[in-house]
Amino acid sequence: MRRLMVAGNWKMHGSRAANAALLTELDLTLKAEWPIDMVVFPPSVYLADTARRLTDGVIGVGAQDVSAESAGAFTGQVSASMLKDVGCLYTLVGHSERRQLNREDDALVARKFAAVQGAGLIPILCVGETLQEREAGNTEGVVARQVDAVINMHGIGALAGSVLAYEPVWAIGTGRTASPEQAQAVHAFLRGRIRTQDANIATELRILYGGSVKASNAAELFSMTDVDGGLVGGASLSADEFQQICAAAAAR
Ligand code: PEP
Repeated sequence: MRRLMVAGNWKMHGSRAANAALLTELDLTLKAEWPIDMVVFPPSVYLADTARRLTDGVIGVGAQDVSAESAGAFTGQVSASMLKDVGCLYTLVGHSERRQLNREDDALVARKFAAVQGAGLIPILCVGETLQEREAGNTEGVVARQVDAVINMHGIGALAGSVLAYEPVWAIGTGRTASPEQAQAVHAFLRGRIRTQDANIATELRILYGGSVKASNAAELFSMTDVDGGLVGGASLSADEFQQICAAAAAR
């Protein structure tokens, strides 16, 4: 049985005071006995502080991005081993905002994926189509290409122990959520495609849905067979919303 995960991407929000208040509330409301992984992804400057506060293991810490390089003259970048050093367990790679705003292509994302694994962290590979691509009937082609970039560079074995996040770009931060059926269809497509290469990896692989997940739609989304939890942006900034989303995952 795959263990569900709820990941909270804080994006470029927060401050030391606001984070402390949010983490205190989460500490009080998220339950250690829930059989799911709960992870927060603060901006990189707050990672060490966040990890220091979350030492009991109930809530994990992850980074929103990482360098593909291991060390050297890469001003402004942060390596995977540095993220591990300050207490991160996970790293997002290929979030659509980085693909779009920072022009990260599939090859760079695949290199980042390997850098994360090389440092002993778990990569969460984000994939998803734009509205234009969906309307052109190209959703499967786009997500397949994005996952294939990792498989072609590192082999199918690289997906073992990693996490995928299907995040339709048109649903991120827009309030427009994919229907549970739309999410399930893409998740099943991805899992089925991976199954043709390795049945065990496909069965174990966690595929999160992201795109305007909130307390009011989480249970319905998580009830889908191939939806193994959520990558939550805006709603993860509210302790109450995040707690309800985690509770919905725990109740599945
Ligand atoms: C995200 O940041 O990955 C995301 C899904 O954001 P939101 O939940 O706000 O749509």
